[in-house]
Amino acid sequence: MTEMTLIPRSRTALPDVRINRHWIDGVWLDGDAQSDRISPSHRVVVSRSALGGEADDVAAITAARRAFDDGRWSRLPAKARAAVLLKVADLIEANVEPMALIETLESGKPITQARGEVAGAADLWRYAAALARTIEGDSFNGLGPDMLATVLKEPIGVVSIITPWNFPFWILSQKLPFALAAGCTCVVKPSEMTPSTTAMLGEILIEAGLPAGVVNIVLGHGQPVGAMMTAHRDVDMVTFTGSTAVGKLISRTASDTLKKVALELGGKNPQVIFPDADLDSAADAVVFGTYFNVGQCCNAGSRIILHEDIAEAFTAKVVELSAHVTFGDPMDPATQVGAIVTPDHGAKIDACVQAARAAGARVVLGGGPLTVPGLGAQFYRPTIVTGVTPDMAIARDEVFGPVLSVLTFRTLDEAVALCNDADYGLSAGVWSENIHTCLAFARQVQAGTVWTNTWMDGFPEVTFGGMKQSGQGREIGRNGLEEFLEIKSVVMRIGRTRGNWVRQPG
Ligand code: NAD
Repeated sequence: MTEMTLIPRSRTALPDVRINRHWIDGVWLDGDAQSDRISPSHRVVVSRSALGGEADDVAAITAARRAFDDGRWSRLPAKARAAVLLKVADLIEANVEPMALIETLESGKPITQARGEVAGAADLWRYAAALARTIEGDSFNGLGPDMLATVLKEPIGVVSIITPWNFPFWILSQKLPFALAAGCTCVVKPSEMTPSTTAMLGEILIEAGLPAGVVNIVLGHGQPVGAMMTAHRDVDMVTFTGSTAVGKLISRTASDTLKKVALELGGKNPQVIFPDADLDSAADAVVFGTYFNVGQCCNAGSRIILHEDIAEAFTAKVVELSAHVTFGDPMDPATQVGAIVTPDHGAKIDACVQAARAAGARVVLGGGPLTVPGLGAQFYRPTIVTGVTPDMAIARDEVFGPVLSVLTFRTLDEAVALCNDADYGLSAGVWSENIHTCLAFARQVQAGTVWTNTWMDGFPEVTFGGMKQSGQGREIGRNGLEEFLEIKSVVMRIGRTRGNWVRQPG
């Protein structure tokens, strides 16, 4: 077989370098320093962004605090907040093309996927707008004739939002509209590698009529920008998506002020395939789950657990399908898999594969960097590793590249045990035509999302998040709104029916 299908450099001209500034208290500000983003695919500068320091952070946090405390957003009727969110959704849809283009150039992902990500994010804003008008609490009318109590849901306050580079606009949209729907004010820090769509959203928020100071954007590195957003006492909550290592750091730092922390972290997501499954659909989904976003995806289906009876034939099928997946220039609409985000990350992926080989696993497809004609070598071959045992690092660690590990099982219990023998618990999948098998698996597996006979489908309504070291808290769905709400009990006496506690002398 041919090993793969390559798409060489397309003729599409690259746009001018985009300039990004901080957006603090409604004003665009140059930073004292700047950094350039070099496109992973084309190796040229595609954006130049302000690099924030502690002073920028303090200014942004102070602006968000003031905007929250004076109620310019939090005390608006939910209907008015929803109207702004709906306008933002329309403006995102009107700007899909320029946003998708820069997202592709900064991240290396294919243009068709960047378009899907930006357009799909508009729906998250619309859904959050609908939720804004559903905020409700409880009332207790059975406490006796002289008592009434209500439990109110209020916005939690100032929220720091820190996002990664792999789905920059989607992940921002899993958090920000829900925080705004709740009535919070925010300080946002995108990844230093993919800041542009977040800055473009600032332009959209202005056009949509969001009051100044409600959202503030500080560009720059985790240190010092993200670290101060986590430590500052005027911040009430941090919501973070990124690596488990940084998530733990954030949790530790935030504990000094006991601020709420929501974490969406890594995964090592298993798919279990039984012999009675629709094996063609399962193989297609496995290929999708392995190579989508070059495998740089928290939900990558990076380990499959195959029933021994079908392991050989199924692996052969996945290898064969891999040859039809198009790797190459992300600017070409025919491309399905683009570039690796940085040279360092490419080297890390390769080190994981070579370590598996040294540990006794077999690399039956790929296993090494890839050069795309006209573009260079910041790409990685579609890679399948068999003979993987549960103790190997490649079975346990997040590789974050187009690399699939294959393990085998004999019984349902054994498959579930293999799935749960992991530090992570983000998502898991089962393929079988037997509903009992699927339900038993779904009940026993430790994962925030379980897919049966599908992979990576998601909807704004369906909440998302991880168990174990894949995170804490939930995003999107009703739970996504609840994360940004604080609870207050109001207990009321009706009339002067209670005697005094203090006994008066005489
Ligand atoms: P990362 O942890 O390196 O960085 C994420 C963000 O944190 C960036 O904005 C970075 O600047 C910032 N940061 C770094 N150090 C910081 C610090 N000390 N304090 C505060 N902020 C800091 O992650 P990444 O490489 O950008 O993203 C890849 C990781 O994200 C993978 O592990 C992936 O699984 C995970 N991820 C998880 C989900 C999910 O929903 N569970 C979604 C996407 C990505």
